[in-house]
Amino acid sequence: APLASPPSVKTTCPYCGVGCGVKATPDGRGGALIEGDHDHPANLGRLCSKGAALGETLGLGTRLLHPMVRGADGALARATWDEALDRIASDLRDIIDRHGPQAVAFYLSGQLLTEDYYAANKLAKGFLGTANVDTNSRLCMSSSVAGHKRGFGSDTVPGSYEDLDRADLIILTGSNTAWCHPVLFRRMEQARKARGTKLVVIDPRRTDTGAEADLFLPLAHGTDALLFSGLLVHLAQSPAFDAAYVEAHTTGFAEALEAARAVAPDAETTARACGLAVKDVERFFALFTETARTVTCYSQGVNQSAVGTDKVNAILNCHLATGRIGREGMGPFSLTGQPNAMGGREVGGLANQLAAHMGFSPAEVDRVRRFWGAPHMAEHEGHKAVDMFAAIGRGEIKALWVMGTNPAVSLPQADAVRTALEGLELFVLSENVVANDTAACRPHVMLPAAAWGEKDGTVTNSERRISRQRPFLPRPAEVRPDWWALKGVAERLGFGAAFQWRGPADIFREHAALSGFENGGTRDFDISAFGGLSETAYEDIAPVQWPVPAGRVEGTARLFAEGGYFTPDRRARFVAPRPVAAAESTPPFPFLLNTGRIRDQWHTMTRTGLAPRLGAHIPAPFVAVHPDDAAPLGLATGMLAEVTSAHGRAVLEVVVDAGQRQGTLFAPIHWSHANSSDGRVGALVHAVTDPVSGQPDAKATPAALAPY
Ligand code: SF4
Repeated sequence: APLASPPSVKTTCPYCGVGCGVKATPDGRGGALIEGDHDHPANLGRLCSKGAALGETLGLGTRLLHPMVRGADGALARATWDEALDRIASDLRDIIDRHGPQAVAFYLSGQLLTEDYYAANKLAKGFLGTANVDTNSRLCMSSSVAGHKRGFGSDTVPGSYEDLDRADLIILTGSNTAWCHPVLFRRMEQARKARGTKLVVIDPRRTDTGAEADLFLPLAHGTDALLFSGLLVHLAQSPAFDAAYVEAHTTGFAEALEAARAVAPDAETTARACGLAVKDVERFFALFTETARTVTCYSQGVNQSAVGTDKVNAILNCHLATGRIGREGMGPFSLTGQPNAMGGREVGGLANQLAAHMGFSPAEVDRVRRFWGAPHMAEHEGHKAVDMFAAIGRGEIKALWVMGTNPAVSLPQADAVRTALEGLELFVLSENVVANDTAACRPHVMLPAAAWGEKDGTVTNSERRISRQRPFLPRPAEVRPDWWALKGVAERLGFGAAFQWRGPADIFREHAALSGFENGGTRDFDISAFGGLSETAYEDIAPVQWPVPAGRVEGTARLFAEGGYFTPDRRARFVAPRPVAAAESTPPFPFLLNTGRIRDQWHTMTRTGLAPRLGAHIPAPFVAVHPDDAAPLGLATGMLAEVTSAHGRAVLEVVVDAGQRQGTLFAPIHWSHANSSDGRVGALVHAVTDPVSGQPDAKATPAALAPY
């Protein structure tokens, strides 16, 4: 008789914030056939090179498969889960007794599932009494979060991917979408074919995305807010200005316009300040003015900046002034970097947040305290990521639990981060892999966390769409989900009654119930419709965009077309950006170093590095240099160069690239000591942060370049 086909499982891709649906068919030998899910609204069956190669990354060869605990002899040794969790609980109790709860921190990841994130936040903020819980999402999009909160009163992306299909003009600023959100770029290309959608790309670097543009604006680093301020001035005197919307649904327009006029009164001044041709700026202004259906997408080039929040608000200002928000084919659109950066924030994954998008006002602290029955509720914001690691370096934070991320590679001043990690009294690392740069920083306990294919829970993508991530592979015998380990520690500390979850469905129901608890429709994040889901209904949740308040079945595709912002007066705020000039290099570092992703790798390559065909695209770490900068240094493509900054060094292969703005360098973020000798560029990046969001500026570190 023919063998029955193994059942396919619908899940989501573990990489970028597009959140593509994936159909996985296990082969019974630990692998699986991976296909795009045609029913998932984010990708409609498409996958990019990384998603399509997921099947090649499965296997246990590099996995951490049992707990490890460092003994009195200083060596890590295999341990049972009881031994590992006992050690964590007793060391946490001891450190809190001696130094108080602020000596404890958690560093989480946009790779975690929402349920894992919820458990970590509940334990830390409600039961240990520390808000020192931050995440690598701080490095990814916290400037967009802060900009949305200033403008809308809430951390809300107003639109949907469908708007990209229906726009007549798409503006991409600070985003190499073709490489970093490839499936969305395919949607944009399709819109261009189907309806003639125009594409404007704003980026100091001519990338594959810029090469496709109808208009490419290679602006000087850090001047996006100036460009959009100039646009606001232009719009205010154009037919595109929507006086009725501004009057009915916003405040602060006059002040924002005055501030914009002071720095960017006309196209000529704006062009000069941004290092652009006047005719190009005029064309950009004209395109925006003439095209009602305009979507402005922004990503790390906007967010990873010392003025990132101002850049976001300068963009939002232009959409508010034209009323082009939350309507079909219109709106500002933050392209999230990570697969669950948004889900993490929904449960309070940032140090300045509580769960369900609540903050640290006394009323919100009290509401969460009562909901959780929390004995030690954190009452003040904790350290944001860069500050958190500085506090570890100063010895103020003694205990750190890192989950699903590799900060010894990815944080700014990565060498200082390594030193800080090695000085901790308790360093717990929940990991999929045995070896990476963070695992080399002498953790006291390593916990084998469930990996993609084994994990079970939910994620939220860039368009607010919650999707299930489902297991399709057997979980190795001693591997556990992160929420289970957190619950185990909570039980050992005497908090078991509040952590009686049998599985992720229990956590999701609790999270959903909290989102509706004493809500009264005042919070943007509301999924209380899911508070009473059965196990089967949780298993079957179809991808849905929040908010989904109680009594609703359908999600919400768009918000704010008719106002209804989440500020006290329900009006959006125009925000006047601070005056700013282009970023500048400083002697003895004559270049500005920009960092970013390449097409076929993800983060620190612990998964994508396993697929040979992904490595074939760009096999080695490199630095891109403008020809006029390379020639005087005697550098040519293929040579090695040493890049130095005030914080570290890296040795990289030179790529001479005319698309690079003169005076700037670009290097990818993916390589580490674990996969190259000297290609770890996080060591070079300065720890300058945006004062509002705390997001580090990874795009303009003063650096020097020399032949190696
Ligand atoms: Fe989709 Fe992003 Fe995964 Fe590519 S990496 S398949 S675009 S979610």
